[in-house]
Amino acid sequence: MADNVLVFAEQREGKFRKVALEAVSEGKRLADRLGGESSAAVIGSGVEGIAGSLGAYGAAKVYVVDDPALEDYTSDGFAKALCRIIKDTEPSIVLMGCTSTGRDLGPKVAARMATGLAADCTALDVKDGKLVATRPMYAGKVLAEVVCDTTPQIASVRPNVFSLAEPDESVSAEIVKVDAEMSPDDLRTRVKEVIRAAGATIDLTEAQIIVSGGRGMGGAEKFSILEELAEALGGAVGASRSAVDAGWRDHQFQVGQTGKTVSPVLYIACGISGAIQHLAGMKTSKVIVAVNKDPEAPIFKVADYGIVADLFDVVPILTEEAKKLLAE
Ligand code: FAD
Repeated sequence: MADNVLVFAEQREGKFRKVALEAVSEGKRLADRLGGESSAAVIGSGVEGIAGSLGAYGAAKVYVVDDPALEDYTSDGFAKALCRIIKDTEPSIVLMGCTSTGRDLGPKVAARMATGLAADCTALDVKDGKLVATRPMYAGKVLAEVVCDTTPQIASVRPNVFSLAEPDESVSAEIVKVDAEMSPDDLRTRVKEVIRAAGATIDLTEAQIIVSGGRGMGGAEKFSILEELAEALGGAVGASRSAVDAGWRDHQFQVGQTGKTVSPVLYIACGISGAIQHLAGMKTSKVIVAVNKDPEAPIFKVADYGIVADLFDVVPILTEEAKKLLAE
């Protein structure tokens, strides 16, 4: 069996998620090291038109399951389609983004293929022809290297961690249509309506810049100063669990062990103490800035830049300075 890599390229409303492109880029790097080919799987309804664009990121072939029954994500439908592609192509490695979809799809596909899954990986390597997946464990306290003895070796990748390949727009992938023989009986769930949360303009897991607030914010309305800073920087607003439990922010904005795992270029923590469960969700951010009036707050142990001050003094200054700098 050739050491080929297959990447599930997640799309939403006909647009690939950024992590899908990161996974395709990483798939190509791994395939090159294994001397194999990298391909992608695109599943949905009316998605054939976008599939070829993955060639720019290194996919030689794109297997497309295009079926009206796959308009909305369901674990039954997508697992059946992806398993069909895996059975047809027999890749030795399967990658996908560790999004809410990937977290649902990965275990199901791994179980159906009687193999393992390394979830939420922050590094991938090849040793002796095997995939070595690095993933944080125990809320980020240790990094485990995971090797799977069965094939395909399935791994999901943490968004914003793997670098995007420089796209070569002149390359278009070969499209291979796959009939997954979907029947209405395959889907035990139906999506009746998708309701978008107000204010969720940038998906937290894909945001390059996140400004997060904790209990130190003191109230829901006070988050407006973080929204202003995030807007000036082109980022999104996150929250600690305390802020979410207090009802100041919706749970979808919670960062941490029981919230979202994020890895932005810049994470600004305001009034957040830095509990281990919060760090679990943001520790792999490239640059961490903490604003806290307690110099002993644990957040300063992981921060690249720490400001010991009242956030209500500091945040408006940061916003003004960001506006000035970005206007230049
Ligand atoms: P606090 O710990 O109360 O910290 C508030 C900070 O604000 C303090 O450091 C204080 O000095 C500072 N402050 C106050 N006023 C100001 C001011 N004006 N200017 C500057 N600084 C100020 N937590 C998460 O965040 N995400 C999770 O996913 C998560 N999952 C959990 C799962 C489990 C199983 C458990 C047990 C806990 C989990 N927690 C999670 C909760 C976690 O343990 C902490 O309780 C929580 O993160 C604390 O939130 P905080 O930092 O906002 O609040």
